[in-house]
Amino acid sequence: MRLDKFLGLFDIGTRKQIKEYLKNGRCSVNGEVVTRPDIHVDENNDEISFDGKTLRYSKYHYYMLYKPQGVVSATTDGRNTTVLDLLQEENVKGLSPAGRLDIDTEGLLLLTDDGGLIHRLLSPKKHVDKVYEVHLRKDLSDKDIESLEKGVNIGDTKDNGEIDYTLPARVVRMDEDDENRPVVHLIIHEGRFHQVKRMMEAVGNEVLFLKRLSMGPLILDETLEPGEYRQLTQEELKQLG
Ligand code: URA
Repeated sequence: MRLDKFLGLFDIGTRKQIKEYLKNGRCSVNGEVVTRPDIHVDENNDEISFDGKTLRYSKYHYYMLYKPQGVVSATTDGRNTTVLDLLQEENVKGLSPAGRLDIDTEGLLLLTDDGGLIHRLLSPKKHVDKVYEVHLRKDLSDKDIESLEKGVNIGDTKDNGEIDYTLPARVVRMDEDDENRPVVHLIIHEGRFHQVKRMMEAVGNEVLFLKRLSMGPLILDETLEPGEYRQLTQEELKQLG
């Protein structure tokens, strides 16, 4: 495709501005400065950079965000900071979070404009594993763990009025946190509203801190600080399928 058309895919500026930028020598193709807008580039094989930054065209965008507490998993909100506000220097057009975390929950959130992937990850049929680190008010007894793993009544009912128990889950006891509170990893395959909190309530406990560690094959990058994000790697994209 034409170079100016390719650059136009990156929200760098209008066609007219791009022409001007090219004249100023801000773009290079395979290491050579190119000033003409009408040359043809191979977007899949040529190395095209603008202001020294390589531009790679992909139809969709994928970001892993370490959602901090106090931020809502919405695309717009009149009052609170949204997860999209955290990506402010990126082009956020069309991005949505794949699932929601409560305002006081932190951890892994995938933001993408690939609606098909969001659908696949959230589809109740697929049941991708989600692993949560859960800090609790008090210890879980063996009986509590057995109930949580079998399925608990969190107040949901099916269309026919029957209790809609949670699906089988896994609970793994972890070391206590710095404040000597019990910690478990809870692995669930659904994404019901406030599910982890309501599951713990169902066994008479209370969640004091909640962090999502993974979603399907995607694992929170521990080099990210709360509020930081990065693009998914090719490897992660491959694993997501
Ligand atoms: N379960 C909850 O209760 N809250 C979350 O944010 C995610 C899962």
